[in-house]
Amino acid sequence: MKRCVFIERDGILNEVRVGPKNQITPLTLEEFKLNLNAAAPLRRLKEAGFVLVVTTNQPGLSRGYQSRREIDRMHDLLRRTFPIDDILVCPHDESDHCPCRKPRPGLLIEAGFKWHLNLDHSFVISDKWQDAEAARTAGCTSLLVKSPWVARVHHDFVLDDLEAITDKILRLKPLVEVA
Ligand SMILES: [Zn+2]
Repeated sequence: MKRCVFIERDGILNEVRVGPKNQITPLTLEEFKLNLNAAAPLRRLKEAGFVLVVTTNQPGLSRGYQSRREIDRMHDLLRRTFPIDDILVCPHDESDHCPCRKPRPGLLIEAGFKWHLNLDHSFVISDKWQDAEAARTAGCTSLLVKSPWVARVHHDFVLDDLEAITDKILRLKPLVEVA
């Protein structure tokens, strides 16, 4: 079985504007500014043999203010820029009570079936507590970048940046293999 690093999209792979309570997601390709500093860490993870899967909540799809076509354009750019294997989207609103809207673990579990992943030996990178909670439920190790959205839920590590997180995963990897 393969191991995976799941990566939250907004705030990790692309920039977000910061609103009073949460991040403001870009809705068009023109607003979609990539975080190019993520390219080198992702390459290191890819070279270490991980499947790289991007996950994202995009409730604007069901609320009607995010077009599917713009999301496809943004995700084409993501795939061209970063060595990622898959992008999984929850298009639902909170009121849909779907199994895939993070902090629920549905996207991780779906990827687990699709890519034959060992979730217990996989990792989740984000800057938000919802991903740490999804990781906990799915059995993955969570690593968060310091941010205002870490909150007080269970997480395994909070580190300064994506470089430090990548170093940590690559140090943990051999330990996981002998376990
Ligand atoms: Zn959903």
